[in-house]
Amino acid sequence: MSRYLFFVLFVLSWLLVLVAGNVQAQEQKSRYVTLVYTEMKDVQEFNSNLQLNRTLESAIHQKNVITAADEVLAKVDIIIEKVQVVLDMFPNNYHIQLVLLPDSSGVALIYKQKYGKNVNHIAYYSLSEKTIYISVADTRLRVLAHEVGHSVVDYYFQQVRPPYNIHELMAQFAEQHVTD
Ligand SMILES: [Zn+2]
Repeated sequence: MSRYLFFVLFVLSWLLVLVAGNVQAQEQKSRYVTLVYTEMKDVQEFNSNLQLNRTLESAIHQKNVITAADEVLAKVDIIIEKVQVVLDMFPNNYHIQLVLLPDSSGVALIYKQKYGKNVNHIAYYSLSEKTIYISVADTRLRVLAHEVGHSVVDYYFQQVRPPYNIHELMAQFAEQHVTD
């Protein structure tokens, strides 16, 4: 084998490793949210863990739902609308990213990369990125409603951000009353 051919094969095999390792993120948009995920199984698990109550569920049937991702987006839009009603805050140009991660270690990894701190959050909302990161394994209606609460408060108070404790209180209020 010539040295040149060996070199070409070596480069090609490395490219293959890189391509295989680079799992491409998928995106799908609705009115209020851009859903970001790498694997369809995460969308399915998120969908089955995100159980709505009867009132919220009935709103789904008025929407055009075909795939699991469609259903997730329809549910999340309904939860966002409900949280806005609960908080009585209807900010203009509200649109967030929702990033699905397989479990809390996925959330911890992202948090560590961005802030250099170790946490064991199952979800968090990034004010600077307008993004909710959530563990699909731990997803529940109330968990999502809490983070959506943070995002709605963030969009509503454009000029002066409420103090941390008040921000948190409003997110907890959204979490408690989303099922009303
Ligand atoms: Zn919070």
